[in-house]
Amino acid sequence: MALEGPAERRDEVQVAMGNGNGVAPSQPSRPAGRPPAAAAPYADRRLRLNPNAEHKPQDYSDVRGEYAPAVYSALERHLPPSLLDADRDVKLHFMRDILARYWPQGERNKVQRHREYRQRILHLYKPLHEELYNMHPSVFFLPTFLEAVRSNTEESFRSIMTEPIPGVYSFAMLQPTFCEMLLEEVENFEKWVHAMKFKIMRPNTMNKYGAVLDDFGLEAMLNQFMQQFIAPISKVFYPEVGGGTLDSHHAFIVEYGKDRDLELGFHVDDSEVTLNVCLGKQFSGGELYFRGIRCENHVNSETQHEEMYDYTHIPGRAVLHRGRHRHGARATSSGLRINLLLWCRSSVFREMKKYQKDFPSWCGECQREKRERQSQCVKATKMAFLRGSGGATI
Ligand SMILES: [Zn+2]
Repeated sequence: MALEGPAERRDEVQVAMGNGNGVAPSQPSRPAGRPPAAAAPYADRRLRLNPNAEHKPQDYSDVRGEYAPAVYSALERHLPPSLLDADRDVKLHFMRDILARYWPQGERNKVQRHREYRQRILHLYKPLHEELYNMHPSVFFLPTFLEAVRSNTEESFRSIMTEPIPGVYSFAMLQPTFCEMLLEEVENFEKWVHAMKFKIMRPNTMNKYGAVLDDFGLEAMLNQFMQQFIAPISKVFYPEVGGGTLDSHHAFIVEYGKDRDLELGFHVDDSEVTLNVCLGKQFSGGELYFRGIRCENHVNSETQHEEMYDYTHIPGRAVLHRGRHRHGARATSSGLRINLLLWCRSSVFREMKKYQKDFPSWCGECQREKRERQSQCVKATKMAFLRGSGGATI
């Protein structure tokens, strides 16, 4: 069940260290005016983790609403046993209650408004390069990149990549003609927006310029882009943050330079895995600086010397990193720099994270604290041993 969309995207929780691109809210909030969960009927009854494969769900094809009838049929197999044979209306009420708590009314309204906004654009905007709207791997990607993905092994990926610091991968990815076409398409879209006096939504809270590619028809192509060309790589390099279960994305263009955004503050992305590709044009400055991977608890903690790294953009070349890898962009001192950003998300990872009790293995600070505790523990054991052996030198 994808919860991808503007509700998540724009309800960003800002991190203290900067006007962050955001961290998704960790818990869905209860809609105003709704009774607390405990007062809702059947609130004491929980869904079964494993579906009842023998149970035959009822027909919900006449049910209208935000969810497709298939959602109710699938969910019915997970109902508590005492409810399985209840009236259809009773079951429907129970399932709606669960779904409403999962995705509150306010968020649903936002999604609906955003859906209408997109439909208006799709209805009126005429694309410049139709060929961009369907996936054409040999037109979009460099042969070396395609060969690495076709081989689909860690070795083949590494053969085209550099890993300047752990968790950051850089590789030549896009054909120059694809970069040019995409730049022209964005320019065409922005001209259209200007001519129509259309008020567009910007990619996130930090960028005043740029455009959301998913909003003007590129969503399906970019979904394939993620599933076929990013997911195989992230499955190998980022399995612990949902790299193997990417299922939604947010794709946008950012523009830096004179009369555009100048720089981007220090932040983390609202993504599990981020792909950042420079499309052009001519520019100087604009380096991407990295400052260590951090969990929510440690997002403002100090940077260790070995975590510092500055990356210089080259058109056509991609950088792949975890969304929780803290970063920012230095000022683009001259010219115009345009980058394609693909925030890849995993609903499975986000759901699992709510129940995680251990320290995450990917947070630099959690790991540093763990090492410190271990070293304290070893010291204490040595001291105890020394005391026990009468202080003899060992
Ligand atoms: Zn941590």
